[in-house]
Amino acid sequence: MKVEATIDLQTAATTIWDVTVVGAGPSGALAARQLSQLGRRVLLVDKASFPRTKVCGCCLNPRGQQSLQAAGLGNLVSSLGAVDISRLKVGSGSRQADLPLQGTVSLSRQALDSALVTAAVDAGVQFLPQTEARLGATSTDGRIVRLRQGKRHEELQIRVLVAADGVGGGLMKGSEVDSTVRENSRVGAGIIVNCDAAHYRRGTIYMACGGDGYVGLVRLEDNRLDIAAAFDRKPVKQAGGLGPLAAQILREAHFPEIPNLDRRQWQGTPLLTRQSHRVFAKNAFLVGDAAGYVEPFTGEGMAWALAGGMSVAQIASRAVDGWDPALGEEWSRVHRQVVGRRQWLCRALSRGLRHPRLTHATIRVLSQFPFLATPFIRSLAETATTIKSGIR
Ligand SMILES: Cc1cc2nc3c(=O)[nH]c(=O)nc-3n(C[C@H](O)[C@H](O)[C@H](O)COP(=O)(O)OP(=O)(O)OC[C@H]3O[C@@H](n4cnc5c(N)ncnc54)[C@H](O)[C@@H]3O)c2cc1C
Repeated sequence: MKVEATIDLQTAATTIWDVTVVGAGPSGALAARQLSQLGRRVLLVDKASFPRTKVCGCCLNPRGQQSLQAAGLGNLVSSLGAVDISRLKVGSGSRQADLPLQGTVSLSRQALDSALVTAAVDAGVQFLPQTEARLGATSTDGRIVRLRQGKRHEELQIRVLVAADGVGGGLMKGSEVDSTVRENSRVGAGIIVNCDAAHYRRGTIYMACGGDGYVGLVRLEDNRLDIAAAFDRKPVKQAGGLGPLAAQILREAHFPEIPNLDRRQWQGTPLLTRQSHRVFAKNAFLVGDAAGYVEPFTGEGMAWALAGGMSVAQIASRAVDGWDPALGEEWSRVHRQVVGRRQWLCRALSRGLRHPRLTHATIRVLSQFPFLATPFIRSLAETATTIKSGIR
C-alpha cells in the first residue's frame, strides 16, 4: 500500500527541523524513527515514492532482525510474511555446495522499506517522498539542503543532516565528504519475476558464481523470485545487457534456466562503490551504504544499515543542541564498532569471488565438506553487541 506524504514541499521548507534525514531506506527510516522517539522534530525525504523496488538480494540476517527488535519492531518481519531461510546453495561450474543457514529471512524491499517508513511516520516523523535533495552551502546555524520536486525547488535550512542516500545517492557530491569511486567496481542488477521453476525452492538462497560476476536468487513472501546480481562492467556490454549476462552465469553454474530472463526489464545500479574518508561533516552524519559500501552476501547490507540507523540517532540528537566536532569523531568510532569490523569479511569474500579458479576450488571443497563454511557464515551473521537503542 502506498505510503503517502505527510507534508508538502512548501510547508517542509518553511518549517524548522531538528534533523533532516535524506533517504528512506532501512538506515534512514530507522534513524528518523529513533530520532523522533528521542523527541526531535524530524523530516524524512526520499526521491522515490513508496513502495519502491530496490536492487537487493532481499535477505535479512539475524543481526538485522536484532536491530529491529532493539528498536521495538521485533514483530515487523514476521507480520509481513518473511520467509525463513535454511539453506544456501552456491554453484560454480559443475560444482554446487549446499550449506546450512540459520536465522536469515527473505522479504521484499517493497514490503520491508514501506513498513519502516510507516513505523517512522507513526512515531511522528514527517515524510516527504518524490523529492530529491542536494547539499548546499554551510550556514552559521547549520547547512542548506536544496529540495527538488519535479520543476519546483525549495531551500531548507537544517540544523542536523543524516545522509542515508545509499550507494548511488550523490547527496554529498562536491562536499568535503564526497566519496571516491573505484574504477574496477561492479554494477548491480535486479529483477523480481513470477517463476514456477520448482528447482528454486522457498527457504533457500541460490548463488551462481561466474567469472564475470554472480547471481543470487531467493523466493519472497509472495513466492515471486527475487534475482539480484553484481557484474563486472565490460562483460555486461559484451553479453548484450544485464539479462543476457545473468542468464549466461546461471547456465555456467548449471542452475536451471528462467524463461525469458535475457529479455526482461532489469533494474541496474550505478557502480557499487562508495568510500568516504570520513563518515561525518559539519552538522552532518553519513549512515548505511552512504557511509561506505561493501558487497553483501547473506544479508549484511541491511543489517549494517539498520544497526547504523539505530546508533546514529542518539549522536545526531545531541548534535541538535549544538555542533561539536567531537560528535563526528564519536560517530566514526561507533560506526567502526557497529559495522567496520565485520566488513573486512565481506571485502575478503568479494575479492575471492573475483578469482574464478579460487571460487571454483572453494565450492568444490565445500560441496564435500559443507561444515567448513559454518564458522564463516556464523561470523557474518553474528549478533551485534554494540547496537544502542538510541532512546534516552
Ligand atoms: C546486488 C545487490 C544485492 C544485495 N543483496 C542484499 C541482501 O540480500 N541483503 C542485504 O542485507 N543487503 C543486500 N544488499 C545491500 C542492501 O541493498 C543495502 O546495503 C541497503 O539497502 C542499504 O540501505 P540504506 O538505507 O543505506 O540505503 P538504500 O536502501 O539504498 O536507501 C537509500 C534511499 O535514498 C534515496 N535517495 C538517494 N539519493 C537521494 C537524494 N539525493 N535525495 C532523496 N533521496 C535519495 C533512495 O531513493 C533510497 O530510497 C544488496 C545490494 C546489491 C546491490
